[in-house]
Amino acid sequence: MPAMFTVAPVEAFNDNYIWLLQRDGVAVAVDPGEAAPLQRELVARGLRLDAVLITHHHADHCGGVAELGRHWPDLRVHGPAGVAGVTHPAAEGDDIELSFARARVIAVPGHTLDHLAYQMDGMLFCGDTLFAAGCGRVFEGTPAQMLASLKKLARLPPETKIFPAHEYTLSNLRFALAADPANPLLAMRQSRDQSLRERNLPTLPTTLQLELASNPFLRCLTPDILRALTAREGRPMTDETDAFSCLRAWKNDFR
Ligand code: ZN
Ligand code: FE
Repeated sequence: MPAMFTVAPVEAFNDNYIWLLQRDGVAVAVDPGEAAPLQRELVARGLRLDAVLITHHHADHCGGVAELGRHWPDLRVHGPAGVAGVTHPAAEGDDIELSFARARVIAVPGHTLDHLAYQMDGMLFCGDTLFAAGCGRVFEGTPAQMLASLKKLARLPPETKIFPAHEYTLSNLRFALAADPANPLLAMRQSRDQSLRERNLPTLPTTLQLELASNPFLRCLTPDILRALTAREGRPMTDETDAFSCLRAWKNDFR
């Protein structure tokens, strides 16, 4: 079934996307880290902002909420309890009724402990958890927690369209090619996405299917990646959490 609404990226800061969902003049925004660019887009498109979905407490995802609340006094703000400005706290398993869709809440701790993802109509809005060809840094949780969250997302239908909150794809692909150099999909993605970025176009959304086949953080037990990790660490990997944790640490230092 085709989605009952359209989705457009609104650029914020250096590399954030605020995802703007709309139907019939009504809009929902995911992760408005700043209000001004979103507000401009709403005015330009003649949209009324009805609701906001927040994935986690970092300012580049929720910093625009207070100002948006001044423009839109009836605004409903769904997100983790404890995030400033949230009017409707959300948690694992909740179904959020938006005016044109129903969003299922998936708890994905790791990047932060409060991190949520929102699934609706074959789409996933996943903030800083799953990126195109990468994943978020583990700031508050443990690598085991982050891995469990990524595996939860990996079990969604493969055709799911993935909408992360950052345009990190090219740097993620450079790392992915170091960890999994013989994966032909990575070379394909790099040339396609470089040409998109040269034209200032987003590399997103991606699909779960493509990520399952080429995102190293969803594939850390594949033989080529295990070989690269073993060579780098100078010891065999003991299990998936160990491999994921080493891969994430490698990426943190990768330039
Ligand atoms: Zn973040
Ligand atoms: Fe972020």
